[in-house]
Amino acid sequence: MSAVNITLQPRPLTDASVDHAIQAIVAGASTAETCNTDLASGPWDFDTRPGYGPGSSMGDVIPTGSPRQGELPREYREASEVELNQRIRAAKAILGDRVVVLGHFYQREEVVVHADYVGDSFQLANAALEHPHAEAIVFCGVHFMAETADLLSRPEQAVILPNLAAGCSMADMADIDQVEECWEQLAEVYGNMDTTDADGLVPVIPVTYMNSSAAIKGFVGRHGGIVCTSSNARTVLEWAFERGRRVLFFPDQHLGRNTAKAMGVPLDQMPMWNPRRPLGGSDAASLTDARVILWHGFCSVHRRFSVDQIEKARAEHPGVRVIVHPECPMEVVDAADEAGSTDYIRKAIEAATEPTTFAIGTEVNLVQRLAAQHPQHEIFCLDPVVCPCSTMYRIHPGYLAWVLEGLVTGEVRNRITVPQDVADPARLALERMLAAKPPAAPAAAWENAS
Ligand code: SF4
Repeated sequence: MSAVNITLQPRPLTDASVDHAIQAIVAGASTAETCNTDLASGPWDFDTRPGYGPGSSMGDVIPTGSPRQGELPREYREASEVELNQRIRAAKAILGDRVVVLGHFYQREEVVVHADYVGDSFQLANAALEHPHAEAIVFCGVHFMAETADLLSRPEQAVILPNLAAGCSMADMADIDQVEECWEQLAEVYGNMDTTDADGLVPVIPVTYMNSSAAIKGFVGRHGGIVCTSSNARTVLEWAFERGRRVLFFPDQHLGRNTAKAMGVPLDQMPMWNPRRPLGGSDAASLTDARVILWHGFCSVHRRFSVDQIEKARAEHPGVRVIVHPECPMEVVDAADEAGSTDYIRKAIEAATEPTTFAIGTEVNLVQRLAAQHPQHEIFCLDPVVCPCSTMYRIHPGYLAWVLEGLVTGEVRNRITVPQDVADPARLALERMLAAKPPAAPAAAWENAS
């Protein structure tokens, strides 16, 4: 395993493939550094291990009961990149409009080239809606994204996650049992959670980030709450403050803190809820005074970005424009020039009319792809160590070929289905988000021309 080294120079990226970059590092053909050379192996080599595996989620534990992927047949593990490409194309050609392949912005390039649409999780779920007659939606992302697509698609459509081990460590940090327990403890502090005060506000509105399980979305729906994305978090918090004295925000503390801080909520009114401690590690007085209670969750990928990296980028690239994702820690967001969702980052780069140097604080697959698409700009990842989201990285072309060829033979592999009793309230929470949104429609996923 190679050590993390942030002293390397940011490099101009010309090849969109992070996998190629890692292979070159491991072969000694590149002086760049990766957070773990095991990433050069096929994901089947680490699917069976108890943690999320190499990469930035390495230390995160997979919760008991999470779906586990069975062994990928040998023919897919041993096939070359060229052969897998041919097999995927051939299967898609046979399936035609019967299948839609969706690729998340953070997905590896070798998979994204086969996607019909590329976008963030919500854009992709909406893209699936445009294909009501497709029998199968193959979601090349992580588990909660496939669940959301299942919530929004027609019952007869099968949503498929090519590798069941592609979870999200952040989503897994808000476990439904822990959230139910938190709610009970808060009720002991605030009293009846359905009773409104003199201003017509209930004590707490639960708000969950899209990056959460369907069970959490269902919890939120059952308790008068709402879902948000990184694009509409402020609008959603405004909606919540019109209905509740305070907000319980999960799973990402950073998105919650960055958004509430930008709205003027003081930091001392944002206590953290650590599910392993009584009252979340807080006390009744702090919870009474709270405006936003932040769940103790984070994204291991975005937590890697630091103020030091920004200072280094500014020193080495005078005039650099630093844009980071709001899942980054507050100090990083404060030190950047701008913070915004993946779609914001993409549009900011597309809108730049003059050659510009961009330092970007988000997942390296998206950064490397944007760099390849916009050679007129210099675009580099703030983190010079090549360290992709290791859970997203589990969607390897071998798994994509395996599920598509299964569909060709009439076999639906790795279907993700949300139970009805969870799906109904989860949909309600999503519908509230759509109703709370300003009039503009959600940004569409890219139709993939590659
Ligand atoms: S980048 Fe972070 S939030 Fe997104 S899927 Fe990976 S671990 Fe989850």
